[in-house]
Amino acid sequence: MKKITKEQRNRYMKKWRMTHRDKLKDYMKRYNKEYNIKHKTAIAKQRAEYRLKNKNERKAYYIKNRDKINEHKRLYRLTHKEQIKLYNCSTSHLLSLKHYRNSEKGKKAACKHRKKWINLNGFKVIAQRKAKYHIKLDGKVCELCKINRAEHRHHEDYSKPLDVVLLCRTCHNKIHYEKSVE
Ligand SMILES: [Zn+2]
Ligand SMILES: [Zn+2]
Repeated sequence: MKKITKEQRNRYMKKWRMTHRDKLKDYMKRYNKEYNIKHKTAIAKQRAEYRLKNKNERKAYYIKNRDKINEHKRLYRLTHKEQIKLYNCSTSHLLSLKHYRNSEKGKKAACKHRKKWINLNGFKVIAQRKAKYHIKLDGKVCELCKINRAEHRHHEDYSKPLDVVLLCRTCHNKIHYEKSVE
């Protein structure tokens, strides 16, 4: 048998890789996917450790490049609307959200957020309380879809607390979502 030199073998391997490029790509994709599933917890642990170790560096980087990062995020949100929608409805995202909300950190953040919101939007709370006291929902149907039971009182104008539209949860969310996008 003729002995093959290292160089020859390398050249041959390189050529093989070039001709089987797509096949290799496919294989690596599959392999990585299986690997990620198999070592999920270990990878997550490693990632969490790494993030903790670099916390200050990451924070400093963010402060330094805040405008650039936010602009990048804004552009991403504009161009990836469908993907974001899909991701927001995915079970893995909803589960992690639930986990975060039940954690100490999540509860604290929610409390802080609520206080800040009330400081800025106190007039909304007052209008909502007034409407809740004077306008009863019992048995009424959503004014938009006319199918679901009305659960919320929606204010077009908070300076008129009793001027409300009775809506189901879905229609109400839709209205505020459209307002936030405009
Ligand atoms: Zn409705
Ligand atoms: Zn509303």
